[in-house]
Amino acid sequence: LVVLAGVNKHFGALHVLQDINLTIKRGEVVVVIGPSGSGKSTLCRTINRLETIDEGVITIDGSPLPAEGRELARLRADVGMVFQSFNLFAHRTVLQNVTLGPVKVRRVARAEAEERARELLDRVGVGNQADKYPAQLSGGQQQRVAIARALAMQPKVMLFDEPTSALDPEMINEVLEVMQQLAREGMTMVVVTHEMGFARSAANRVVFMADGRILEEAEPHQFFDNPRSDRAKDFLSKIL
Ligand code: ATP
Ligand code: MG
Repeated sequence: LVVLAGVNKHFGALHVLQDINLTIKRGEVVVVIGPSGSGKSTLCRTINRLETIDEGVITIDGSPLPAEGRELARLRADVGMVFQSFNLFAHRTVLQNVTLGPVKVRRVARAEAEERARELLDRVGVGNQADKYPAQLSGGQQQRVAIARALAMQPKVMLFDEPTSALDPEMINEVLEVMQQLAREGMTMVVVTHEMGFARSAANRVVFMADGRILEEAEPHQFFDNPRSDRAKDFLSKIL
């Protein structure tokens, strides 16, 4: 579904992504972990072209990422992204946040978009908040709205960049549960997270990054019980 081949990217003198090769199959949940500054967010952002790359190819369903225009808008719809800081539109209601993309990008009729939005909001457990504004919701509720908003575009793949790290502890689980459910339903997901419980139970594969490289790629039990590299051992000893 998503293939990164020979991807390299620099920020000035910093070689932030170094020879990245990664294939994400349909229905797979790939958890990306690694120390701060290792390039995890940059990797995510290249997949929906929030960042361009200097070398290599990224394809989705065999097609290289489009550079601009309507194709780029459609790519962003196909590749849903959920950020650490919820990034909802502050001056739109919850319902409007979820219907805007489908109406504008997917050309869905408003009534249909609203019906689907209400279903999605119910599914993530915030159906009764549809007419509120983001600031009137808790962080966990806002993040669940952000997930519903991405899902409303019927994406092929969902990217999550530390979706729970800005949340108070008691709200982390409600967001992780929504993500677990999505994973069970077969959504293709790339998840950057420090939630190792989630990684163990939901991931098909763990990708460990350090210094812009993928150092290990393994099934969760293999990675957590038997990390191969010293960098991974060191990292795990600090966070587990
Ligand atoms: P964290 O766990 O802290 O979120 P990360 O693994 O997501 O880290 P990135 O955000 O991908 O790391 O950043 C990788 C490196 O690239 C860092 O050294 C960062 O300072 C640098 N960097 C990120 N974005 C930019 C940018 N727009 N311009 C210049 N340097 C950047
Ligand atoms: Mg990051």
